[in-house]
Amino acid sequence: MLKIHYSLESDVQNVIHDIAAPSEINIQVRNLVLKAKKGQSVARGDMIAEHPSKFGGAYHASVSGKATKVNYHHLTIECDHKENSVEPVDVKSMGPGKDLQRTLQELGIDVAPLSSRCGQLIINGLNPEPGIFVAELLLECENDILEVGLNIVKSLVHPVHTKLAVAKKTSATLSGTESVFVKPKYPNSLNALVIKAVTGKEFCDDTKIMSIMDIYNIGLVAKTGLPVTDTIMTISGHNYRVPFGTPIRHLLNELDMTVKSGDKVVLGGPFRGEAVYSLDEGVKKGDHGLFIISTGQFPSVEDATCINCGECVLSCPARILPNMISRYAEYERFEMAEKYDLHSCFECGLCSFNCTVRRPILQYIRFAKDQLRISGKAE
Ligand code: SF4
Ligand code: SF4
Repeated sequence: MLKIHYSLESDVQNVIHDIAAPSEINIQVRNLVLKAKKGQSVARGDMIAEHPSKFGGAYHASVSGKATKVNYHHLTIECDHKENSVEPVDVKSMGPGKDLQRTLQELGIDVAPLSSRCGQLIINGLNPEPGIFVAELLLECENDILEVGLNIVKSLVHPVHTKLAVAKKTSATLSGTESVFVKPKYPNSLNALVIKAVTGKEFCDDTKIMSIMDIYNIGLVAKTGLPVTDTIMTISGHNYRVPFGTPIRHLLNELDMTVKSGDKVVLGGPFRGEAVYSLDEGVKKGDHGLFIISTGQFPSVEDATCINCGECVLSCPARILPNMISRYAEYERFEMAEKYDLHSCFECGLCSFNCTVRRPILQYIRFAKDQLRISGKAE
């Protein structure tokens, strides 16, 4: 059995490696508004989809080539391996205001956190999950881009105080912020718990929190004038810059990683990540880790009946009842799941991980939240 560790401390070299371009990419377009058609030629950075929400960032081609397949789930682009790219936008010389906000959104940034002022801005600089070292890597290696990003954010939200939550013992800093040290142990990296660690309160109306990865993307967009088209991932202890849509199969081949029959490939972290249904699935915005879980490392997850042991309740840092919420979600009684504080769950995954009978509690919770969002009953 795999021994799981909860430490969020980095133990890799602070270097970002590039991944060779794949022959085709599969960009997930589910629940997005498509802007590209089958047969269309696209340059790197061309907008291919928009988020339907008011503040969601647009999605762009991460390579130049031709759209060869479009379905409900994916847009496939066959790469021509040319350097065709869109013209950069002069973001840095734009003054703060709605135009800057709209431009950032068109370049792929989710601008919801930038849409109103706040008294306190917290930058979450903790590595998100055990085995994923992207946050500390960016603080160590990309400080100049982070400073550009932070200045843009400050110009839009006008915080009185700006705090950087970082792991205890780290020497990483960010100009224009005051460091607050947090014990680097999962789930302390989750936004709700970072806010509590920094402010001492669970609900702070006048406080916003953004991840160091968000600040980096804003800085990169401002510095290059080009849209966000890739993500940084920790894989097997190394960090890689990976274009959106890169098929998992290509990543595994490039990194000489073997998947045996029965193994699970997980995109995201060991607690919050989700198994991919196909190795052709493409890497998405917000994916920062890839793990292979071998057969037998963990007991498999199954739709078993809850035995009321209470383990999930004991492990829940939100102090809610995951056993009750998951039962109501399983039988699509979403209104009852809401009554049991579904929306207070911040999806740490500890309940699923510790469930005695290995019920997919987190998946039921995400299912309930998704269904309520789709039906317009929740944000
Ligand atoms: S994922 Fe489970 S343990 Fe974590 S906050 Fe939600 S209900 Fe609680
Ligand atoms: S840990 Fe699993 S079996 Fe135990 S109460 Fe929670 S959901 Fe039920």
